[in-house]
Amino acid sequence: MAYSAIKVIKEALTGHRGWKPLWRRPEPKSEYDIIVIGGGGHGLATAYYLASEYKNKKIAVLEKGWLGGGNIGRNTTIFRSNYLLHENEMFYEMSLKLWEQFEQDLNYNAMISQRGVINLFHSDAQRDAYVRRGNSMLINGADAILLNEAKLREKCPFLNYDNARFPIQGGLWQPRGGTIRHDAVAWGYARAADRLGVDIIENCEVTGFDIQNAKCNAVRTSRGTIKAKKFGVAVAGSSSAVMENAGLRLPIESHVLQAFVSEGLKPIIPGVITFGAGHFYISQSDKGGLVFGGDIDGYNSYAQRGNMAVVEDVCEGGMALMPMIGKARLLRMWGGVMDMSMDGSPIIDRTPIKGIYFNGGWCYGGFKATPASGKCFAHLLATDEHHPNASAYLLNRFEKGYMIDEKGMGAQPNLH
Ligand SMILES: Cc1cc2nc3c(=O)[nH]c(=O)nc-3n(C[C@H](O)[C@H](O)[C@H](O)COP(=O)(O)OP(=O)(O)OC[C@H]3O[C@@H](n4cnc5c(N)ncnc54)[C@H](O)[C@@H]3O)c2cc1C
Repeated sequence: MAYSAIKVIKEALTGHRGWKPLWRRPEPKSEYDIIVIGGGGHGLATAYYLASEYKNKKIAVLEKGWLGGGNIGRNTTIFRSNYLLHENEMFYEMSLKLWEQFEQDLNYNAMISQRGVINLFHSDAQRDAYVRRGNSMLINGADAILLNEAKLREKCPFLNYDNARFPIQGGLWQPRGGTIRHDAVAWGYARAADRLGVDIIENCEVTGFDIQNAKCNAVRTSRGTIKAKKFGVAVAGSSSAVMENAGLRLPIESHVLQAFVSEGLKPIIPGVITFGAGHFYISQSDKGGLVFGGDIDGYNSYAQRGNMAVVEDVCEGGMALMPMIGKARLLRMWGGVMDMSMDGSPIIDRTPIKGIYFNGGWCYGGFKATPASGKCFAHLLATDEHHPNASAYLLNRFEKGYMIDEKGMGAQPNLH
């Protein structure tokens, strides 16, 4: 079923009885060529690119819950490619370009809105750091514009310029950044992968790996043992727990990140704005809700809910930046479990066990990485070669000392 304006009009006139489920609900087969573990954004994108670019393979995605129940349906929907280090900037810019053609490629409306991302700066030193980052973005083919205070005031007159503890001096603006409806991304990839023959199997938890002579031959699941030649693990916040079943310890910690949505308000926030003197960021959804968040909760957890101390911290950040937010009523909030790597950059690599490949360490920036991650992981799974844009995301970089420490914060997930 392809979507088109004609189809929408026809369904509107005939009681919407012709829409079909977006993906099948197949029973698991006993064997596949490649099994992707985890039906979040990264797992589904991987399956889609495997099926579309490396044809004639039998592929399954095994998801322990329902599609969209993990971080792909819990994030604050921001995409951008405003990184400093070349290894990251080229990867995230690749992702941004894939987002720009996502809806056409997949014939699926994900409400992509390139309304721009502004990182505020509050001191001369921070401005200089942002100039450097902006130049790095330009060198890597991305877009970046430095806004002085006057220009920023035109765009965001509601910010606290005059009485703030950290006066706002300007911002680094990436006009091509923005927001995308997150669960539409999961549904779009699921539908496209299913149409190419991928079996998407929900309620199928991987509980163990059958490994002999350092080679994996099958996974044990809540729906039986399933064989495959290769297994791609893309389980985000559950990375350490799943890989422990294969006897592997990862340089990753799991932490909760919370998100907040206010009641619907008239349009006020022009794009995505991030506070440069604290951890707070905000955008406004198409329905009018202010969507915002801040720091991770500072302790390890697999609970998909957060604590009050971070709620207070996030609200303090909001009040410092734009005091008018104090009048908005909070409608809902939730948490997701983040796979925090020790240098803040991801891993897309083989593991010491033949047949098991790993994708994770996305910290809280993995949503925007979804298309590039899927494409690069599919490339690795299909060819056993690293994709050129992800060749630095190696598992052994921590023991070798080749960290991709974007923020220069070292092994401190709470500072990434
Ligand atoms: C509150 C919040 C805000 C965020 N905001 C942003 C943002 O604005 N921009 C951005 O770029 N990123 C953001 N992120 C980060 C981003 O959402 C994640 O990095 C990204 O979604 C992780 O990849 P995923 O979609 O594959 O994860 P998930 O959707 O979590 O997918 C992993 C899947 O694996 C499944 N799984 C786990 N264990 C097993 C098992 N044993 N067997 C089978 N399946 C299993 C899970 O059920 C889950 O569905 C945010 C995250 C949160 C929580």
